[in-house]
Amino acid sequence: MAINNPIYSKCPSCLSNDTLRISRARNFIEKIIKTLTFYELFRCKKCGWRGIRSSFTINTRWFKRLLLYLLLMILTAFLVYQVLIRIA
Ligand SMILES: [Zn+2]
Repeated sequence: MAINNPIYSKCPSCLSNDTLRISRARNFIEKIIKTLTFYELFRCKKCGWRGIRSSFTINTRWFKRLLLYLLLMILTAFLVYQVLIRIA
């Protein structure tokens, strides 16, 4: 999966512009961060810095995440509703 979005901010380590690229998750925790939060893993192609930064830009990932949250909310509401009518 290649993501070549124009990048959002400076590298916090070497302060270069336009060197941050979205990095792949290397472990389970990073995968969770990428999937469930509005944070994104970045790597600097100049100095090799790697870390997490918030990515509040509206993009497809953001929409996918929003949809995931909505889906979970609807599912939870539906389950709660089902439980409530069974009790009543
Ligand atoms: Zn850097």
